[in-house]
Amino acid sequence: MDLTKYIRDVKDFPKKGIDFKDITPLLLDSSATAEAVKQFEFLVEGKSIDKVVAMEARGFFFGTLIAQKLGAGFVPVRKPGKLPFSTLNQQYSLEYGTDELQIHTDAINPGDNVLIHDDVLATGGTAEAVVKLVELAGGKVVQLDFLLDLTFLNGKDKLKGYNINSLIKY
Ligand code: AMP
Repeated sequence: MDLTKYIRDVKDFPKKGIDFKDITPLLLDSSATAEAVKQFEFLVEGKSIDKVVAMEARGFFFGTLIAQKLGAGFVPVRKPGKLPFSTLNQQYSLEYGTDELQIHTDAINPGDNVLIHDDVLATGGTAEAVVKLVELAGGKVVQLDFLLDLTFLNGKDKLKGYNINSLIKY
């Protein structure tokens, strides 16, 4: 099944010059969603995963489905002020200024094998911050799996030494 046809390009969203990859048509189709989950499962075949860590908010859709399939726990990474318990925090650079991501302090046990997931790998700044959070908590990043990789933005350059996969490349 060609998953590319379920990704909608929305020009100039959320601002002029951005070609936004909208994954909601994929989520609307249960067969295509099941196929994507199957492909994600295949990417970690034979590996033991304790936790799937996914980024707010579009990483949550497939992150929870993948965690269920793998029999792993799901860990949400969120923007400041959203998680109710004590948190580990990591700042990261944006085009203008900085932002911060957080996870709960009890989400990852030292030595946990972690799969990181998000919908899109763009410049890699978000994923890099999540890698740091996982390692701060004592987790081992087994690999990072994305639905889409915007390869022309060279996100992999920020994630050298890590195993990075995507179902669709642009
Ligand atoms: P980055 O930190 O630049 O790799 O950006 C990754 C985050 O921004 C992901 O959480 C994506 O959801 C979102 N993102 C960046 N660029 C796009 C795009 N062109 N279409 C959809 N989402 C994007």
